[in-house]
Amino acid sequence: MLSINLQRLTDKQPIMRYNESAWWLTLWKKSDEFGFLAQVQSQVLQQCLKDLDRAFSDGFDRKQPLKRMPRFKKKGSNDSFRFPQSVRVEGNRVFLPKIGLVRFRQSRPIEGLIRSATVSRRGKHWFVSILTAREIAEPIHQSSMVTGIDRGVVNLATLSDGSVFEGSKPLKRLAKKLAREQRKLARKTKFSNNWKKQRERITRLHIKIADARNDAIHKATTIISKNHAVIVLEDLRTKNMTASAKGSIDEPCTNVRQKAGLNRSILDMGWFEFYRQLEYKQRWRGGQVILINPRNTSRKCSACGFTDKVNRQTQAQFSCMACGHTENADVNAAKNILAAGYAVQACEGIGGYAPNEAGTRGAAMRPLPLAA
Ligand SMILES: [Zn+2]
Repeated sequence: MLSINLQRLTDKQPIMRYNESAWWLTLWKKSDEFGFLAQVQSQVLQQCLKDLDRAFSDGFDRKQPLKRMPRFKKKGSNDSFRFPQSVRVEGNRVFLPKIGLVRFRQSRPIEGLIRSATVSRRGKHWFVSILTAREIAEPIHQSSMVTGIDRGVVNLATLSDGSVFEGSKPLKRLAKKLAREQRKLARKTKFSNNWKKQRERITRLHIKIADARNDAIHKATTIISKNHAVIVLEDLRTKNMTASAKGSIDEPCTNVRQKAGLNRSILDMGWFEFYRQLEYKQRWRGGQVILINPRNTSRKCSACGFTDKVNRQTQAQFSCMACGHTENADVNAAKNILAAGYAVQACEGIGGYAPNEAGTRGAAMRPLPLAA
């Protein structure tokens, strides 16, 4: 369906929407070529078409400039499928339609009504995540603290009160190992048994890196979210920053190598993931995340407001040329970010800057009284 719709776009024809594609699905299931589709529960296939339809809608949505047209995904990475209903849990087993009862390890109690279940695979392991719905009271945040956060390459996060979350840089530690294992893979005969074993080893290494990084980000965002009702971050548009390293055909990037190195650190630090986790953890607790324009946050003096790049003579140290104020550069930036957050709250929506890091405009902009 993706292929058909992309072809239709190339031919300047309207794409097939969900209803039409679901109709085709029933025909395909009866055909010789695509008959294998009938082995899967039909709702799983429909969910897949719905996801595709949503992806096209988002891709065309002007309000979500970061969303792109859907593309083909490589088989073997992020494999998953979703059951929209008929899933139930019986003791240590989960019932999946057309598959039956499957034994599983339940990591936490299931509260509320089961809405859907997504089955995914990482390496050799299969996971099922169960989405539930239940009524809860509107949460009220336990803290009245406000903080600005500077996300960095050296440290994961620096707060405006001066505290630092170092984060784990697993890629640096494991990158050498990964490169070594990848060289080994290249020397082996493709698709041989040894090649497959080696590829398996690399998959495990990738998972290990991702887990270590995610763990560090979760620990930091939990602590920060618990202790602050309002969190101010820069709208960094990580996606744009990382995309720019490639340059374009007309304007090839001259410092690709240098930028690729920085981007690697940015990705390793998981800046977007950090924001994403803070956003939902704040929503759980009744707190708020504000995104501000990152312009000048590292050049401005947090004491007197003097803004110039000469203030930042080294990467680590900030010293103001106007008032002589000196401070750790990241802390100075975090203080500016906090101040910009107050400014956003004071004049919300008036000639303002529309944050859209998540691709959703203003989702994080619920007004909430700030405690100084
Ligand atoms: Zn100053």
